[in-house]
Amino acid sequence: PECSLYQMLENSVEIFGEQTALIYQGEQISYQTMKDKVDRLANVWDELEIGKGDRIGLMVSNCPSYVYAFYAAQKLGAIVVQMNPMYTPREMEYITNTVDTRYLVTESKYLEKVAQVAETNPFKHVFVIDDEKRQNFDVQSIPSLIQSQQRKQLEPTVITPKEDIAVIQFTGGTTGKMKGAMLTHYNLVANVIQSYLMYGEEMKKGKEVTLTCTPLYHVYAMTSGMNLSIYLGASNILVPKFQVDRVLELIQTYRPTFFPGVPTMYNAFINHPDVESYGLNCLKFCSSGSAPLPIDVIHRFEKVTGATIGEGYGMSETSPSTHRNPTQGVRKIGSIGIPFPGTDSKVVDVEGSELPPGSVGELIIHGPQVMKGYWKNPEETAKSLKNGWIHTGDLATMDEDGYFYIVGRKKELIISGGFNVYPQEIEGVLYEHPEVKEAAAIGIPDDYSGERVKAYVVLNEGAKTTSGELTNFCQERLTRYKVPKEIEIRDSLPRNSVGKLLKRHLVKEEQYRNT
Ligand code: ATP
Ligand code: MG
Repeated sequence: PECSLYQMLENSVEIFGEQTALIYQGEQISYQTMKDKVDRLANVWDELEIGKGDRIGLMVSNCPSYVYAFYAAQKLGAIVVQMNPMYTPREMEYITNTVDTRYLVTESKYLEKVAQVAETNPFKHVFVIDDEKRQNFDVQSIPSLIQSQQRKQLEPTVITPKEDIAVIQFTGGTTGKMKGAMLTHYNLVANVIQSYLMYGEEMKKGKEVTLTCTPLYHVYAMTSGMNLSIYLGASNILVPKFQVDRVLELIQTYRPTFFPGVPTMYNAFINHPDVESYGLNCLKFCSSGSAPLPIDVIHRFEKVTGATIGEGYGMSETSPSTHRNPTQGVRKIGSIGIPFPGTDSKVVDVEGSELPPGSVGELIIHGPQVMKGYWKNPEETAKSLKNGWIHTGDLATMDEDGYFYIVGRKKELIISGGFNVYPQEIEGVLYEHPEVKEAAAIGIPDDYSGERVKAYVVLNEGAKTTSGELTNFCQERLTRYKVPKEIEIRDSLPRNSVGKLLKRHLVKEEQYRNT
């Protein structure tokens, strides 16, 4: 993996030049055309003196221009700063400030927000992927810039893959302030190759079709959707927004073989009334990551579609993938599988000593995909990177066969009457109930037991069950101290853009209610 991301692209273009690289809104773009657009955009940016080490914010939903901008930046040795279009101006400001981002690629519908941020953080250049919309600052359209460029030979900037940062990926902010993980070219290329090796010989170069509706501004789709597809010579269907009907139609039309998904998507599929009629069994490689995948969702998905889901695990800090259930070989449902090739992982106690199989402790990981550190944040870096091992903040166990199981986040562990209660276990039980669509469990302060369990559920449409019935359901399946003392039924749960539960919002709500 000791090459740059742009070299990886060049290699694929050489082999797969005329094949389709991207499919977007009915249009098919070949590898050669894709590279041509990347090169033209790099020419423009080079003339604007954007170069090695400069940070370019990418705040765009899935579309070809995301790919062009990403790889043009890589060709110049610039650093892509991934930005979620749903960020509030305050969050945008936090990121642009933290990493001193003077260039931004976005969509014109976000320009008002950008204008707000620009008051305190002036951008040198703002680019949009669609048409320019007048602002009180200079905005340039990427498609017109690409169009107007003459072909010119520009040598790619020399990259030292192990040193040079390709991407700054901010963490999800699920447990606290977002931190900017510095991912090098080596990290990202390594993770692509590791993912490919993990899928084994069944995944064929030049033959696969990927469906990417997880957002590219998140590390999971950036690597498993975009970069892996390019490495593989796959055709990648880019979908800007997950709408279950639309995605099912795309599956029917293009017969994708590879689907990097997240639990909320699989949950949406199984709750769709006609899911069986769309032929989802074309999906040979369904992966799920970024949040716990309830076992019941796996069972139901596999029963109705005939496809299988291989659960995996990853984090922003590890480019992201580190564990997966093998496609060939033993798959253990409920487990995140085994470490990727070249990856070591251990479960350790608070002192950092390795624990034997079956014990619960913190998961720590070592491998070529582990980040260089957090951008300008030596304290957090020192806390989580020790001798090259990343301390994940997740609690896990390993079985005798070396398969890992995530039991929850260290910060979300509930301690009730001295007992450890893992929210995921309670959520798993609630998901078994046929009328439960979503579930979340948190700990709330309790004078008597320190913390007590509270659960929130969202029910399926037309469901009739009550919180009393759900409590009985839990009582039949859980030890007493794990049974939620309160179950609240509501219309939705707070989630971030990739569907991750924001439990700290629930905790805050509780605190607010009690004051
Ligand atoms: P922050 O670090 O800012 O609190 P975050 O940890 O949610 O946010 P990400 O890097 O996007 O930010 O997510 C990584 C985390 O996602 C992991 O540490 C883990 O808690 C969770 N996760 C990923 N895959 C799985 C999985 N298969 N099962 C359970 N949890 C998972
Ligand atoms: Mg994290």
